[in-house]
Amino acid sequence: SIPLGFFGGIGAASKNGILVKGGNYLEALNDIEIAVFDKTGTLTEGSFKVTQVNTVNNISKDELLEKTAYVESFSNHPIALSVVKEYNKRINQKIVSDVKEISGHGIKAKVNTDEVLVGNARLMNRENISFEESSALGSILYIAINSKYAGNIVVSDQIKKDSKEAIKLLKALGVKRTVMLTGDKRAVATSVGKELGLDEVHAELLPEDKLNKVEELLKHKSKRGKLFFVGDGINDTPVLARADIGIAMGGLGADAAIDVADVVIMTDEPSKIATAVKVAKRTRKIVW
Ligand code: ADP
Ligand code: MG
Repeated sequence: SIPLGFFGGIGAASKNGILVKGGNYLEALNDIEIAVFDKTGTLTEGSFKVTQVNTVNNISKDELLEKTAYVESFSNHPIALSVVKEYNKRINQKIVSDVKEISGHGIKAKVNTDEVLVGNARLMNRENISFEESSALGSILYIAINSKYAGNIVVSDQIKKDSKEAIKLLKALGVKRTVMLTGDKRAVATSVGKELGLDEVHAELLPEDKLNKVEELLKHKSKRGKLFFVGDGINDTPVLARADIGIAMGGLGADAAIDVADVVIMTDEPSKIATAVKVAKRTRKIVW
């Protein structure tokens, strides 16, 4: 049976905008040893902004942005949304066909008769497109049209105001290892990691690599210690399910994440996780 005090704890958490799906998870939050974070939408705002459009050959910037926006209008990835927003014109989705989103890589589709490929360097390599890697600051979308490299679009995201405080608070509450996992490129990941004072950063991961990383981390914790993973649910639901405690940031509202998560943060503030740990500690004192 569940000690009555847990109901009080769950209630206290919910007043703080934290949904805990059971007394066992609240109890487990006391013993957090490893904190694992997704980057985009979790530690960063997840609302990218287009900062550069660079073309090669005889395509204009407007045309490159247009073709890219037409393809990205079929994706709900935060990067895709930023391109559609920047384009800011009506999109006739009827002229787009054969849309295929490739998780951790990008997306491809036909726009009228043109084959348009939009994604990261990994996607270009996979499709054998010869292109020049950009060193611009931000996440980079490379675009190929009919198998020829046509240019790139640079987008950048911002670290959430609350993220640094969240990491600091969690460390003060006894978390031994703070880790960020991301599909984004290494340069972006490293700069976010430094800014936030994270212990470890692993970049350029595919969704299955994130799962493997978590499996590995689980092997290296103490018997009592718990691992949580926080994500926004965009292709990280398997990791949310595998962690001792899966935490979804509900602010962005990925339904699948909210379903599989053990704890849902109703706002988009990562420091609420520290609040949840504090509630857990207070509850343990009352219950036992
Ligand atoms: P994160 O770990 O940061 O949440 P994802 O696994 O969602 O990242 O995506 C990893 C990378 O794959 C992105 O940084 C981007 O380079 C590329 N990518 C994924 N989806 C798209 C898309 N719709 N358009 C362009 N690039 C994409
Ligand atoms: Mg993600």
